[in-house]
Formats: sequence, C-alpha cells, structure tokens
Amino acid sequence: MKLHEHQGKELFRAAGLPVPPGEVASTPDGVAAIADRLGRVVIKAQVHIGGRGKAGGVKVAATAREARELAARILGMEIKGLVVRKVLVEPALAIATEYYAGIVNDRTSKRFVLMLSAMGGVDIEEVARSYPDAIVRVEIDPAFGLHDFEIRQAMLRAGFDQARLRALGSVIKGLYQALVRYDCLLAEVNPLVITQEGNVVVADAKVDIDDNAVFRHPELLPYRDDSFDNPMDRLASEQGLTYVHLGGDVGVIGNGAGLVMNTLDVVTANGGKPANFLDIGGGAQASVVAKAVTMVLSDPEVKGIIFNVFGGITRCDEVARGMLQAAREMNLRVPAVVRLAGTEETAGRALLNGSEFVPVASVQEAALTIQELIRKCQ
Ligand code: GDP
Ligand code: MN
Repeated sequence: MKLHEHQGKELFRAAGLPVPPGEVASTPDGVAAIADRLGRVVIKAQVHIGGRGKAGGVKVAATAREARELAARILGMEIKGLVVRKVLVEPALAIATEYYAGIVNDRTSKRFVLMLSAMGGVDIEEVARSYPDAIVRVEIDPAFGLHDFEIRQAMLRAGFDQARLRALGSVIKGLYQALVRYDCLLAEVNPLVITQEGNVVVADAKVDIDDNAVFRHPELLPYRDDSFDNPMDRLASEQGLTYVHLGGDVGVIGNGAGLVMNTLDVVTANGGKPANFLDIGGGAQASVVAKAVTMVLSDPEVKGIIFNVFGGITRCDEVARGMLQAAREMNLRVPAVVRLAGTEETAGRALLNGSEFVPVASVQEAALTIQELIRKCQ
C-alpha cells in the first residue's frame, strides 16, 4: 500500500523525525488560507509517483495570492496519468544541501538495504544508472538492526556533511525504526535537506507498506481508501480478489497465480491481448466465481473470458457448479470458454455441456477459441 507524501510524513513525524509542519488542501482557496498563516510556502502535488518536481507538481509561492494561483494550476493536473486531487502545503525551505536516504527491501540478499547518497533531490534510479558509485549500500541484519557505527560509516562513505552527522544519523536511525514499526517495504527520504540555517529536514517521504501487514496497523486503515489510483483496484481489494488490470480484451480467471500467469502467456503467444490477471485462489463457491466475473466484466474493454481451472483438492465438478450458479445469478454478457483439468474433470465438463460456458481441452485451445468467439460476436 503506497502512501502519499503527507501520510508518510505523518508516520515519520510520529517516529520523531524532523518533518516540516504542513497541511493538506484540495482547493486553491484552501491553499491560500494555509499560505496566509505560513508565509512563503511550497505546494506539493500528492500523487503516488515520483518526479513530481520535474513534472511541475512542486512549486514555491511567496504570497497567499501566488499560492492560490499555483494551486489552481497544480490541482487537477495530471502527472504520469495520475490526477492531482490534493496538495501538501509547507513552509518553504531555504535548501543548502540535498541528500538521499532510503531503506528498501532487497530480494536478492533477502534483507533490507540502507542506501545513502550525497546526490539527493534527483531521481535515485537516475543516479544508480549514471553514477552507481555515488550510492552507498548497507545490508541490514534483521536480528541486530542498524548499528550506530554502521550508519556513521555509511554517512562518511557517502560524503555527508561531517558537521551534521549527529542530526543526519538520527534521521536514518528513525527511518529504520519507522520502517520496522509500520511493516514498510520501502521508506525513503529524497531529498533529506540541510537548510541554509543548518537544520536537517525531511523534505519528502516515500513509503510503501506491506499489504499483508496492513491488518496489524488499524491506524493506517484510513490511508487505504487513498491508496487506489483507479476504481477497479478499489473494487478488487473490497472483494478480496487479486486483480491486475492489463488493458486487453480477453478476461482471464483462474485458480492459482502461476496458472493464471501461464494463461496470460498462452493468450499472448496466440495473438490475444489479456485484459487482466485474476486469481480466485482455492475453493469453488459460486459467490467467489460470481465476484470474479463481475470484477472482470466491470472492465468495458472485455469481450470474452477464459476460465482456467485446475482441480486439485478443489474438484472440477464443484467449480463447474459454482460457475453455473454464478451464471444464473448474473448476466454473462460475453462468450466464455472453460478449460478444466484435474480431479473430476470429466464430471465437470459434463455439467457445463449445453451451458453458456464452452468447454475446451487445453489452454492453447482456450486462447484460440475465445478469439474466434469474440470475432463472431462482433
Ligand atoms: P519529487 O520530485 O516527487 O521527488 O518531489 P520532492 O518533494 O522531492 O520535490 C522536488 C524538489 O523540489 C526537491 O528536490 C527540491 O529541490 C525542490 N524544492 C524547492 N523548494 C522546496 C521546499 O521548500 N521544500 C521541498 N520539500 N522541496 C523544495
Ligand atoms: Mn523526492
């Protein structure tokens, strides 16, 4: 679950990090009112994507009037396809230095890795590409956490200002504590700023919470609503389905993530365009099948559906019954083919005979048949 900058900053503030006081607004008048109180402000678009600065989503305003004008421009603008609905307004900083500090989940070492760079402010992927040596990496042993001496060594290697090591170090330590406390997959501050007055300030916050751990943090639930960038993702989450929109016209539903991914490949290899990934998991309840079909059909681009079902502990005839019941309860507006394999597949296929679900023998056949049926419908 990605957090907006202002939400990430709330967590960091609670962990004792030096976060500027800020307020969120969704109208130019709201922004002007905040600027009236704060004076010179920075107005920052709140969208789940980096590079807002470059895209024109971060602007400094000297007066409340200017703040209103800039806010009118930023609110409603699109940054990489995401519409800006809220902005964070903070007192503007007099920036002297910009560093990068981030802790990321590294799947190769199976550890969290602290990354520091004196080349902050810029996109870190860009730094990694062009100046890989400018990033210092420290693998974190989960049993011991980050030792103070490791933080200190890393800061020195990264070339952080020696006069500010204490303040910078405590930010890094707090960043790790926040990451552990909130089960983050990523906690990043870019830029970590030293102001002209010499203060260390967390000027940006990028936080990604492990979805599987959100249940342990009821205080984060209000952020959930905000974490969906499109209505389909929200619907899937509410229904407890694992759905990924892919943009084609062949809906794909299967039981098991690997099976569904394989189906996507076979559809593509046969010239089709998958509309989505949808794993219904184990079980065969009609209600789950119906939910899955509703989900897939809520995508107006979908012109046909492939079911790929492997009967293991869940038997194919049970799945077939679930599908038939689902079809009775709802309007299946497009053709559907079903590949059933495994336990009780013959019984399952017999049940589907004569129904709106066309049984096929292989995934390959499913991919070809659905395209043919879609063509016939047009
Ligand atoms: P990002 O581009 O999405 O990563 O957004 P940032 O919050 O990192 O802002 C981009 C850049 O805005 C920063 O790197 C700063 O150089 C610049 N900036 C200028 N003035 C300010 C200020 O007062 N506060 C902050 N946070 N950034 C500022
Ligand atoms: Mn940034």
